[in-house]
Amino acid sequence: MKVTDVELTISAVDPKQYPTTGYPEIGFLGRSNVGKSSLTNVLMNRKDFAHTSGQPGKTQTLNFYAINQELYFVDVPGYGYAKVSKQEREKWATMIETYLTQRKTLRGVINLIDGRHRPSDYDLQMRDWLDFYHIPVLYVATKVDKLPKSKIAQQKQLLRRELELEAEEPLVMFSAKTKVGQAEIEAWITQQIQSAS
Ligand code: GDP
Repeated sequence: MKVTDVELTISAVDPKQYPTTGYPEIGFLGRSNVGKSSLTNVLMNRKDFAHTSGQPGKTQTLNFYAINQELYFVDVPGYGYAKVSKQEREKWATMIETYLTQRKTLRGVINLIDGRHRPSDYDLQMRDWLDFYHIPVLYVATKVDKLPKSKIAQQKQLLRRELELEAEEPLVMFSAKTKVGQAEIEAWITQQIQSAS
């Protein structure tokens, strides 16, 4: 997957605003600061294209990036911050749920978790929830350059165990710094896109 062209097509909240081009889509899920912008920038071969929308309380949108005019990467905002009101969280949850359950062109979701820690309650909830909707998921553990090399395999096992991943559910250990895992992630994306066409 060589990315030659990237364009932010639209930042959407409502399904009426989603692009209608019909390209297959891959969604990227993860809480603020997990490394989502860094991963998408690596995949898009850009230094600073995707910015973290960041601040709790700020309007969160689904950002559709057209890649090579043939697929979309969709940056799905994280939610569940303690600082944000219940009402705000519910608004996010509805937006995300609507997107994940109704978007016909969605071929799979990349669910990011912080590779340095045990899965959080949020990660475990997301895992159950994605499972429930039968969406193909690639788990990506981020920032693994911060782990000692000797600990990476062990940490991967721990994450698999605690997330209760089945043998056929892939988990990639990734670093935006060293690019380890990039090829595996790209192969998974290509597979999802091709299996749909
Ligand atoms: P986002 O909020 O999920 O989009 O997260 P960002 O991509 O903006 O990253 C949050 C912070 O983590 C930034 O300070 C990044 O430099 C740092 N970061 C992201 N990915 C990596 C990584 O693979 N390795 C290291 N060491 N830091 C990372």
